[in-house]
Amino acid sequence: MELSERQERIIEIVKEQGPITGENIADQLGLTRATLRPDLAILTMAGYLDARPRVGYFFTGKTGTELLTEKLKKFKVGEFQSVPIVVDENVSAYDAVINMFLEDVGTIFVTDENAKLTGILSRKDLLRASIGNQDLSAVPVHIIMTRMPNIAYCSAEDLLLDAAQILIERQIDGLPVVEEKEDGLEVIGRLTKTNIAKALVELGRDEHL
Ligand code: ADP
Repeated sequence: MELSERQERIIEIVKEQGPITGENIADQLGLTRATLRPDLAILTMAGYLDARPRVGYFFTGKTGTELLTEKLKKFKVGEFQSVPIVVDENVSAYDAVINMFLEDVGTIFVTDENAKLTGILSRKDLLRASIGNQDLSAVPVHIIMTRMPNIAYCSAEDLLLDAAQILIERQIDGLPVVEEKEDGLEVIGRLTKTNIAKALVELGRDEHL
């Protein structure tokens, strides 16, 4: 974030004299404690300053870039995942295409009769199936999907950076977010390149960094 001139001055004072009380900083700037309060709150929230009760403010020593990196490394998949679109493995490729358009997604997850993950369908899987003269309504998706155990997945608690790395390494657009159950993987979300782009924008536009 862009620091205001006053916020820069506060940091300088705390760097040189910390730990220092809010009262004392306000005196030095010729301002009231109340006027200063929002600036101190912002600087503390952003991680530049830390405050200890009865001691005062002190400088954490972290630069803007360090704070940005720290925040990025804490992002979890669960904070950014979208709703998954799931079909049964016996639905037709034709119905999967319709689903893809209606739900406006590029990847559909396929599950068995116990609603556990068995496969993934991408746009290209469906395009491939449509080459030639086969009747897509007669082709069940389990014939054309990428199937377990070759599916890359993640959990909501995983770091967003780790999930992004898998997308790059496997050259795919998305991952199912799953919960492991006794009888397989339950799909609870979808993490795509768009979610990663959203995280990047959130980080870049964070007023407090
Ligand atoms: P598209 O086919 O639209 O370019 P992808 O690059 O995501 O989309 O998919 C490429 C291939 O990888 C497809 O055959 C698809 O079934 C498969 N695939 C997609 N996501 C995964 C995943 N999470 N794990 C394993 N395979 C995947």
